[in-house]
Amino acid sequence: MADEIKVCSVPVLSDSGQASDEFSLVGVSAFFWENGRTLQVRFLDGVPEVQSKVEQIAHQWSQFANIKFAFGSDPHAEIRISFQREGSWSKLGRSALEVTDPNEPTMNFGWLRSDTPDDEYSRVVLHEFGHALGFAHEHKHPEAGIKWNRTAVIDYYRQTQGWDEEKTVRNVLHAESKDATQFSKFDRDSIMLYAIPSQLTTDGFSVGWNTELSETDKQFVSEIYPFDSDRSSHLAATGVIYAVKPDGTLEWYRHKGWQDGSNDWAVDVKVIGSGWNSYTQIFSGGI
Ligand SMILES: [Zn+2]
Repeated sequence: MADEIKVCSVPVLSDSGQASDEFSLVGVSAFFWENGRTLQVRFLDGVPEVQSKVEQIAHQWSQFANIKFAFGSDPHAEIRISFQREGSWSKLGRSALEVTDPNEPTMNFGWLRSDTPDDEYSRVVLHEFGHALGFAHEHKHPEAGIKWNRTAVIDYYRQTQGWDEEKTVRNVLHAESKDATQFSKFDRDSIMLYAIPSQLTTDGFSVGWNTELSETDKQFVSEIYPFDSDRSSHLAATGVIYAVKPDGTLEWYRHKGWQDGSNDWAVDVKVIGSGWNSYTQIFSGGI
């Protein structure tokens, strides 16, 4: 068991094509859903026993996050789950909407079977639904401070996963830029962390497989998706977006399709002043 690893190779930040994504802890703001949403979930295949286990575990996140998962047969379900593709992975948060073919999965569980141990169900289902909520891998935390033995890591993932160096760098070794991030403390108990065998670090640091939500996972997700959400719901409900252009002008947009992501905008873009590019962060609020 010690040498058998099954890791998730979700395309995360580096695959988004946006070097300037902000994220907190290792959550990706741009990919978070509007707070308070009920996301529809549909199984594309799989046996009822396995589906039922996945559903039960996924709901754990909703105890701490103001997001509900409604499992059913909605053809337009935002999250579509298959058990037939290779590996286990999920689209990151709202990027699931980029998969427009309703027969294509946004999440896959490649190795869950009826007789898979319960703790493996817990580990992999909580982890992939964490991605679906917009969370990236914790070992890519800007301050993880993991002293990787680079050669050993590359050899290890080549042997166990068949990954080339580039894929291992992208999925494991590459820490996200501090400049582009907001984050709290590295959490070695996070469900979003891979196990780290001691032979992969130069100082003997290791982490086993985490199979439950950590206290930090619970606290963080409740801050991103708060139940007491005046602030977030007003912001989301208005659909108002401010954009700073490279020349420093501030533009106002209203997204009338904010609930379903449809391409429906208030017609007039309004320009509100100039010189806004001298600020590194701009937040908006109000009703
Ligand atoms: Zn993952």
